[in-house]
Amino acid sequence: MSVGLTLSAPLDPLALPGPVWVVAPHPDDEALGCGALLAALTDAGREVWALLLTDGGASHPASLAYPRPRLSAERLREWRSGLSVLGVPPARTTALGLPDGALAGSVTPAARSQVWQALAQAIPGTVLLPWERDPHPDHRAAWRLLHGTLPPGALALEYAVWLPERGAEADWPRPDEAGELTFEVGRWRDAKARAIAAHRTQLGLIPDDPGGFTLTPEMVERALAGPERYFRRSYGFRLIPAQSGKRRLCIHIA
Ligand SMILES: [Zn+2]
Repeated sequence: MSVGLTLSAPLDPLALPGPVWVVAPHPDDEALGCGALLAALTDAGREVWALLLTDGGASHPASLAYPRPRLSAERLREWRSGLSVLGVPPARTTALGLPDGALAGSVTPAARSQVWQALAQAIPGTVLLPWERDPHPDHRAAWRLLHGTLPPGALALEYAVWLPERGAEADWPRPDEAGELTFEVGRWRDAKARAIAAHRTQLGLIPDDPGGFTLTPEMVERALAGPERYFRRSYGFRLIPAQSGKRRLCIHIA
């Protein structure tokens, strides 16, 4: 369900300026939110880079088997493994190691400088980042960290991870705020499923913290069923009259 959206159109991966960067607050967000699009891009020979903001070490705080340093190291391996499935090689990945669960405290000039240095490895034509009001505090902090940090001219598409699952009506884009681009998972379902499956620590691997985070089969199936949703700010959309006299959507990607 999407609330309040009036503009929606299919996303054409080949229309996205490159290189394309995906920014993930946690390891697994890129697979859950963008896995099919990333697979489609690399399948078409497009250059994709990935930036991981947090250390991912807060998902199982009570585990003795996976204390935070071990969990963070394992999640970083899972992240790179999942991205490899999607065609993004480890050499095009950067992890900042900011604190999982407390990213809001890291929206600082120093962290913005780290983000900028990472993106400078391949100045992005397109950046996929979390939707401003995706209902997770770290996702919202990620948006604030990236906001104002992106290079001029980069196309920003904001992806949703938890919005369909947990979002309140006010969390969805307003009609005057952003339009929706959708990407069907389709033929990239298998690649997306394998990328999600790489995140074993989030899928029941850790047995000694029952209160730890686990992706449920329902969450995984929702991500695989799609479509993936990307929001673009309204200034990128323009309504022009079609010959029929009706109005149609034109998406300008400059
Ligand atoms: Zn996340």
